Amino acid sequence: MTIVVNMRTGVDPRKIRIAARFILNGKLVAFPTETVYGLGADALNPDAVKRIFEAKGRPPDNPLIIHIADFRDLKRVARDIPKEAKLLAEKFWPGPLTMVLPKADEVPPVTTGGLDTVAVRMPAHPIALALIKASTPVAAPSANISGKPSPTSADHVVDDFYGRIEVIIDGGETNIGVESTVIDLSSERPMLLRPGGLPLEEIEATIGPVEIHPAVKGKTVDMARAPGMKYRHYSPNAQVIVVEGPSNRVRRKIEELVREYRSMGYRVGVMAREEISADEFYFLGKTPADVARNLFKALRELDKRGVDVIIAEGIEEKGIGLAVMNRLKKASGYRVVKA
Ligand code: AMP
Ligand code: MG
Repeated sequence: MTIVVNMRTGVDPRKIRIAARFILNGKLVAFPTETVYGLGADALNPDAVKRIFEAKGRPPDNPLIIHIADFRDLKRVARDIPKEAKLLAEKFWPGPLTMVLPKADEVPPVTTGGLDTVAVRMPAHPIALALIKASTPVAAPSANISGKPSPTSADHVVDDFYGRIEVIIDGGETNIGVESTVIDLSSERPMLLRPGGLPLEEIEATIGPVEIHPAVKGKTVDMARAPGMKYRHYSPNAQVIVVEGPSNRVRRKIEELVREYRSMGYRVGVMAREEISADEFYFLGKTPADVARNLFKALRELDKRGVDVIIAEGIEEKGIGLAVMNRLKKASGYRVVKA
């Protein structure tokens, strides 16, 4: 029932046309973007969009992002577009930036979780752009079962959705590894709703200061402006514990926690930027970009290796580190230990 289409060597126009036809017929097509894999459907077809929510087990009030491939389509899905949005689109699209704007009438309520705003982005991935160009604006949340770590390879999508969606396009591993940055431009002051692949610093350099929604760093949630933030997210089966602090102290703290949990009989996994001995170890890479790229894969992989506890090395909350820490803290249910 699921066709896995190999496009690892690049865009294949014939296969793209076939996948586009599935989208236009109301079916579900998972595809790679530069951030994570998306689970796509025709954003303007309410029945198709409903199937995304059903397949993921996603709460209906958690809105989807509409992906476009042509600047002209922004006006099709959004209205009252402020000059900040135009500036950001010119500078960062295609790219890992999602903007929340007043919704156009053509967008069905199911796509926006009943809100009168819409989230839009233009992804920077040749396969995603080709698929959207050959079809229509595509609503696509991350292609994972709701609550699980996001998928950064077609294998992850196969694990979650094989037999339950029509098409999975395999374009290899995604480059950025965390989802897009979401910024709300629908009211007076710009507000960061979700840190992501595009660093906040770069947005502020373009449009000036941006407020940070309190849910970005902590748990407090203002439901009116941050739909979707109240849900459990990015969680493997194992309990995640994040260790943050000065790097010289973090290693010792992780080693201490490994001993403690092992002595209680747990199988312990560690994900970090340098080798630390535990029952299972996953190397996250050296740079913050490496950590972002490997983060979700590490969570899924340590789960597969059957650990009970995952101890994760935190990184500095700047640049892409803000997105990494947001995902890690959510994955841990905010079990954060200071070193
Ligand atoms: P996902 O597609 O799983 O990456 O999640 C999309 C996220 O974008 C949602 O969980 C929201 O946080 C955000 N989002 C989408 N649409 C809106 C909107 N209209 N207003 C505010 N946030 C939105
Ligand atoms: Mg998601």
